[in-house]
Amino acid sequence: MNKGTIKLCSACLLGINCCHDGKNNLNKKVLHLASKETLIPVCPEQLGGLPTPRVIAEQRGDKVVTEVGDDVTEKFEDGARQVLKLAEIYGCIEAILKQRSPSCGCGKIYDGTFSGIVVEGDGVTAKLLKENGISVITEEDL
Ligand code: SF4
Repeated sequence: MNKGTIKLCSACLLGINCCHDGKNNLNKKVLHLASKETLIPVCPEQLGGLPTPRVIAEQRGDKVVTEVGDDVTEKFEDGARQVLKLAEIYGCIEAILKQRSPSCGCGKIYDGTFSGIVVEGDGVTAKLLKENGISVITEEDL
């Protein structure tokens, strides 16, 4: 077994109950990958200090707002910085993140209207990781 490759991974994809509704996004391909490679589970929203469960949020322009109108941009940005710190500690150059999340989405996010409309864009954490040279893919790329 080769455990030499270390990647960051959205914790919810491994079955950790860190989603806004207290559930997870278990993905069997990601779980299988964890048996071959070392995946560091991260949930940027929890690392940014948000509770679980929490009110669902989406990006709206350069802000992140909840469905009830609270501005949670700072929490999302702090969580992204914590994830980048872990990437640097472990020398990760790749991350597998949950598609369409306002934190983890890569190339696709919801549009901020809470109506299920998907637009081009990166989640706050995915964007920061990419800006720092870390390659980001999603579970849909596996
Ligand atoms: S912030 Fe990322 S890891 Fe946390 S629940 Fe959302 S998609 Fe999963």
